[in-house]
Amino acid sequence: MVLKELQNIFHIELDAIYGKHEVDSFFYLCTEHYLNVPRIQLTLEPELAITKPETDTFFKALEHLKQQKPIQYLLGETEFFGLPFKVNENVLIPRPETEELVALILQNVKNQDPKTKPITILDIGTGSGCIAISLAKNVPNAKIYALDVSKDALKIAKQNADLNNVKINFIEASILDETCHSALDAESTFDIIVSNPPYIRELEKREILPNVLENEPHLALFVEDDNPLLFYKAITNFAIEKLKPNGQLYFEINQYLGEETKQLLVDAQFKKVELLKDLNGNDRMLKGCKVLE
Ligand code: GLN
Repeated sequence: MVLKELQNIFHIELDAIYGKHEVDSFFYLCTEHYLNVPRIQLTLEPELAITKPETDTFFKALEHLKQQKPIQYLLGETEFFGLPFKVNENVLIPRPETEELVALILQNVKNQDPKTKPITILDIGTGSGCIAISLAKNVPNAKIYALDVSKDALKIAKQNADLNNVKINFIEASILDETCHSALDAESTFDIIVSNPPYIRELEKREILPNVLENEPHLALFVEDDNPLLFYKAITNFAIEKLKPNGQLYFEINQYLGEETKQLLVDAQFKKVELLKDLNGNDRMLKGCKVLE
């Protein structure tokens, strides 16, 4: 079989599910991953011959894509903030909205006096490590801690730190649990605390695409309807105690709970609390500063 024929089969089988454009990008990702062939090769050499084992690999991938398995899990990799990340079913696939959160933090870090000493950052519920690692790559000399309750998620996060050549202090702990305070005692205060905790309510489940619902870790996505701000409350209380006097707290939030989440920070005496929208115009980020003592 040749490359072009394989591409046609992908279109015949998948266009109805994903649309032509998305199927093209899946095919390019597969050729890059399985054949180590850059996407331009498809234009330069559409008649490139593919061996039988290679063809079989493509057909296996095609079957998974037909069942709506996310391509990132299929290939075991993705990109976030221009960096490579390994992913599997134990971690959430990094989202573009979260890239916006990282950009917001970097903007604020840049505005700080560069002569100040290295800053300390804590990422709560790190998952694949995407926030902690992209901050580590972009904030010189930062000392970064990243916490997650899932041992399996931390395994991937550690691989990602190595892959991107950064040093992160990973800690297995839950923010809902008192033990996380003692686990973090070594570094008693932080300049920045950031979190993208689970925030989808049961009642919003029907808005979630089946490929997300059936494949991504529910532990990282869902909270109970009657206490949707559970993680935000715990993190806000933790942060007001553990941030340095001029420290900042950053959250990714549920777009339908913007005002309620903002109020939590206000009630906890955070200052300059700002609710910010993502590129889709949804309330998605929250920033608060601990008051200067
Ligand atoms: N933004 C993610 C989604 O829509 C959810 C992330 C989270 O719950 N923290 O699937």
